[in-house]
Amino acid sequence: MSALIIAIDGPAGSGKSTVARALAERLGWSFLDTGAMYRAITVEALRRQLNVRDDAALAALSASSVVRTLPRVTINGRDVEDEIRTEPVNEAVSIVAANPLVRASMVARQREFADAQPIGTVVEGRDITTVVFPSATIKVYLSASLEERVRRRGGDEEPASLARRDDADSTRAASPLRVAHDAIEIDTTSRDVNDVVEEIVECLHQKTSS
Ligand code: C5P
Repeated sequence: MSALIIAIDGPAGSGKSTVARALAERLGWSFLDTGAMYRAITVEALRRQLNVRDDAALAALSASSVVRTLPRVTINGRDVEDEIRTEPVNEAVSIVAANPLVRASMVARQREFADAQPIGTVVEGRDITTVVFPSATIKVYLSASLEERVRRRGGDEEPASLARRDDADSTRAASPLRVAHDAIEIDTTSRDVNDVVEEIVECLHQKTSS
């Protein structure tokens, strides 16, 4: 594992990607959007017309696929950046992500990615603080009101779909979204991105200087 990791979890639209990206840039660290990985597997499953509830087929697909998130999201070399946030993917991704075998394969790659980074990594998702990096340097749980989270999705996702996804992600058996006991909780509803970034940087400085 790389020496330093900031792990960020929270529901859809809580500001994870925006904050994590800005934080990585501010610190000169790498950034990993783990939701994009589950979304890329989902795009490929739909393209192959697999039944997304077929655990064995999805496990085989995830084990045999190469997923990259930077500079653009690709699966087996195919650019899927423009497909990962479409409605069919929003509807199916939580089913794919509830598959424990798919998760095991993605978690291993997330750890490998962080391990290969020169300084530190900001990683965001749903199980990053609890399962993927339980010993992260800093753990953050971001939240925001449902109204604000829907607004941030800018019409890309129906409110009902977002609420369904939150419910599925928090109630599934495998690595559900929950607040780690030692996470810093930040409600981003009426907060400026840079303000949240600076709050986390301050926590990091306190932690690493103590
Ligand atoms: O973060 P984003 O909304 O793009 O994530 C899409 C979906 O991927 C989530 O709704 C969740 O089902 C799944 N996910 C997950 N674990 C992660 C990241 C995302 O289960 N670490």
